[in-house]
Amino acid sequence: MLGKLTLLLGLGMTTMASAQGAAPQNENWTKPFPPFRIIGNIYWVGSYDLATYLITTPQGHILINTGVGDTAQQIRAGVEQLGFKITDTKILTATHGHFDHVAGMAELKRLTGGRLLVSEQEKPLLESGGKADFRFGGTAGARFDPAAVDGTFKDGEKISLGGTEITVHHHPGHTKGATSFTLNVQERGKTYRVIIANMGSINPGVTVSGMQAYPGITQDYARTFLAQKDMRIDVWLASHAGQFRMHEKYKPGDAYDPERFVDPAGFLAAVLRLEKVYLDQLARERNAK
Ligand SMILES: [Zn+2]
Repeated sequence: MLGKLTLLLGLGMTTMASAQGAAPQNENWTKPFPPFRIIGNIYWVGSYDLATYLITTPQGHILINTGVGDTAQQIRAGVEQLGFKITDTKILTATHGHFDHVAGMAELKRLTGGRLLVSEQEKPLLESGGKADFRFGGTAGARFDPAAVDGTFKDGEKISLGGTEITVHHHPGHTKGATSFTLNVQERGKTYRVIIANMGSINPGVTVSGMQAYPGITQDYARTFLAQKDMRIDVWLASHAGQFRMHEKYKPGDAYDPERFVDPAGFLAAVLRLEKVYLDQLARERNAK
């Protein structure tokens, strides 16, 4: 059970079986990766696979997502290696509240004093340390240090700091409050529309035709795919490096290039692929009834 959870949350990467009750592990989740500038004021400070985005502004930083293990210290080291101060972080947020993206949130709050903002539907997940999840609420290995939420946002609202304006998009299904973020970045006279997407993947054990703990899941996934297919973006980023094929597009030491992660076709293809997985699973479940 835990092995399968690890495998799917980690998008099929190599896994190490964990002892009963211990936190699931995936070597690529904790494997360090050198921090680097993605585009404009957006930097990667995550591990090899788990995305953590640092967005800098003259009035402080925004951090999106954490990893697992000693992630908070790794993130701090990454931020400092780039020449910034972790204590300048004003806002913390997440693409969704599964442990592989928020396990370090409580510690990062203590470390930075930043305010934790999440979608209103995701708040119970963060504050229960994962117990409120419709799928993994009863899985001990998926728990994390609960983090108090300081504010919530709704679909279409904006997070603003120091001249940077981020629009939040409620993209539920994977979790009830899953969120994508978009922002425009000006670089070398060009405007790039950037998405930090929460892709609509489906975890094992999830029934997309409806679950008691998540009656609206069918419509939520459908709406998310519809919305994502309609988005006009240039730069595609996501919750896992593997989801947007970061390691094919960038190797440590490569020169800064704002065009590097421009991939609207790749984003659309990934959304269509995930939608097909969802539709096929939905058809199978309905046929079996
Ligand atoms: Zn997840």
